[in-house]
Amino acid sequence: MWPMKRRSFLDKSSIGLSTLLVAPKVWGESKKKLFNSKSLVSPFAIATWNVPEAVNLAGNALEKGQNALDAAVEGVSFEESNLKNTTVGKGGAPDREGNVTLDACVMDHFGNCGSVMAVEQITHVAALAKDIMLKTPHVILAGDGARQFALSQGYLPENLLTLESKKAWESWLEKSNYSPEINVENHDTIGMLCCDQQGNLSGACTTSGLAYKMKGRVGDSPVIGSGLFVDNQVGAAVATGLGEEVIKTVGSFLIVELMRQGKTPQASCEEAINRILVKHDEKPDFQVGFIAIDINGRIGAYSIHPGFTYTIYKENKTTIKTVESVFKI
Ligand code: ASP
Repeated sequence: MWPMKRRSFLDKSSIGLSTLLVAPKVWGESKKKLFNSKSLVSPFAIATWNVPEAVNLAGNALEKGQNALDAAVEGVSFEESNLKNTTVGKGGAPDREGNVTLDACVMDHFGNCGSVMAVEQITHVAALAKDIMLKTPHVILAGDGARQFALSQGYLPENLLTLESKKAWESWLEKSNYSPEINVENHDTIGMLCCDQQGNLSGACTTSGLAYKMKGRVGDSPVIGSGLFVDNQVGAAVATGLGEEVIKTVGSFLIVELMRQGKTPQASCEEAINRILVKHDEKPDFQVGFIAIDINGRIGAYSIHPGFTYTIYKENKTTIKTVESVFKI
């Protein structure tokens, strides 16, 4: 019956009075952990797909003492301006009307986050998401508002549709077949997780989204908890692949919560993929892949189909790893 008296609510609630009484203590402990200076750890950077230059850039920045957030943003910026990468930043595939619209988000070790959705003319959208986080009272800016904020911050407007991506779009228009394609180029959303010398975690996620999407379509990548989630007490995760499926299971948040409950990063990524698969009776014709790290430096990665890779920088070495998948062919 509502309204319930406070006393009876406490009696009936599964939370219970004792939990409520210890809550401030738990809060205090977690703050203490976060702000205590930890002994310096060996930093590392990890990103979805085959992106050694981006991961090296972040790794070198971390070695020089850069914080995890700035290193992740700097790392993914390489792919945002890489014209050969047609799934991120400038040169990214446009929507079905020929507009390149970009999505990105960032999250830091305090749980602060920023996100930009469907922005045009701005290449470095992960940096823009960071600026939204740091310089506005908001988490998300979308569309023209995001573009105008970028211009006000000194970002230069650019034509993001390159000759190559225009040609590819024009040949797509001949058939206009709208279906997600699996690992066409061994590139997709770039999600990067970094751990800095203080042992703090942050992440950045950037994409041009599904190629030839409907105008205004936004996937998981800029959605905090779906495309990216960071909890400095537990770990972090990022996603790539068909955003609609990741959003339906809030994939990255799910992985971090599973790790909080004691699962390894690998088991957590596998469980998140399974949560997607149980919604489908047949072998899915779309790809989803996750990578995750925990605060002990353990790594997990898993995908639906083969072909997903990640790149990791650790102890001055950058390696590309092939990820295990549910289906083998
Ligand atoms: N996750 C991105 C989206 O759905 C695209 C991708 O990673 O393939 O927009």
